[in-house]
Amino acid sequence: MTATLAPTFPLRTKEILDSLAATGQLKLLQTIEGPMGATVRIKGRGEVVCLCSNNYLGLANHPEVVEAGIAGLRRYGAGTASVRFICGTFDCHERIESRIASFYGVDAAYTFTSCWNANEAIFPTLCEAGDMIVSDELNHASIIDGIRLAASIKKGLLRCVYRHSDLSALRERLAAARANAEVTGTIWVVTDGVFSMEGDIANLPGIRALCDEFGALLVVDDSHGTGVMGSTGRGTHEHWGMTATKVDYFTGTLGKALGGAAGGYVAGSRRAIDLLIQRGRPTLFSNALPCSVACSADKAIEIVMREPERVAKLRDNVAYARAGIARTGFSVLESPTAICPIIVHDTAKAIRLSRELLDLGVFVIGFGYPVVPEGHARLRVQISAAHERHHLDALFKALATVKPA
Ligand SMILES: *Cc1c(COP(=O)(O)O)cnc(C)c1O
Repeated sequence: MTATLAPTFPLRTKEILDSLAATGQLKLLQTIEGPMGATVRIKGRGEVVCLCSNNYLGLANHPEVVEAGIAGLRRYGAGTASVRFICGTFDCHERIESRIASFYGVDAAYTFTSCWNANEAIFPTLCEAGDMIVSDELNHASIIDGIRLAASIKKGLLRCVYRHSDLSALRERLAAARANAEVTGTIWVVTDGVFSMEGDIANLPGIRALCDEFGALLVVDDSHGTGVMGSTGRGTHEHWGMTATKVDYFTGTLGKALGGAAGGYVAGSRRAIDLLIQRGRPTLFSNALPCSVACSADKAIEIVMREPERVAKLRDNVAYARAGIARTGFSVLESPTAICPIIVHDTAKAIRLSRELLDLGVFVIGFGYPVVPEGHARLRVQISAAHERHHLDALFKALATVKPA
């Protein structure tokens, strides 16, 4: 039986890969030979300006962050060799978790090895049958999958999406949920703080007001907003002048502005965190955050709290970059975030421009269908506090050179 079926799989795999190649969707991985910074060394190419990393505050290779990781490695060794509840909880985990909680100004936080895992922990653990999860249609894939997983584990847990950032659509969903006899439990509204492909932000005050009106809880995944938005980098809620207590639960990553290594977290009430510790499957069955990463990320957050001027420099760079890109004639989607999508519509064009820019020493990735809808292909430029003006000037110069044919 297996003998006759076996060839199907390699053949099918080949067909999929061939069709990706034929339609120009094959992703070519660029190999980097040194640290992440304003510039990176690409294998076979040399040094280029990096405008596609999530290293928003330039902390990925900050000497203090690197040293803290090395010290953690020396003190705790290479691995925990355990999940948290067996023998994988080290004092560095407690330190970073209280650091995250104090960074937000909330009761408690708990780490995971990624924000992907945090999102796959929070919804299946905190939500129950009779609840309704209402999600923005452009939420990150990890939120979508976390919600799907929750609904498949807990029969009778309901879910729906609302049109991206559309408050009247959200109101309709919430009103329908309240009128739905099957909704006997909690209504959850879930949104990214900063949306990764559009670079726009959630209208948190408007969403909060609707949550209050309909008695819903608000979960914000601020992975691209943390360290970036608000005058001290606390995130999208700070940008809107809201205290963290206006958001019921945060999820976020340590893999972007906060050091760029890996790891994610849930932050919020002590009781919810306690339940995640008891019941979250990613933490019960998967190893703890490596201690070296707990130590380097802890240092990264300490630096963000100590040096808000990094956030200010990022904000200045973003303003400079947005104005400069606009002058080249390309149109960049308006927003206050460090994600500057340049819409070029056509997927093949996005890929071609990205290759041409790389030839000019500027590393920017093109995103096309199916990552974004057909006709909305784009170059996604990401700005960092690590950039100096001359790095951004190099981008403008390169964009002016590749000016669409
Ligand atoms: C990047 C991102 C994640 C994934 O974070 P990891 O820690 O790399 O798993 C999750 N959610 C959002 C909104 C993101 O932008």
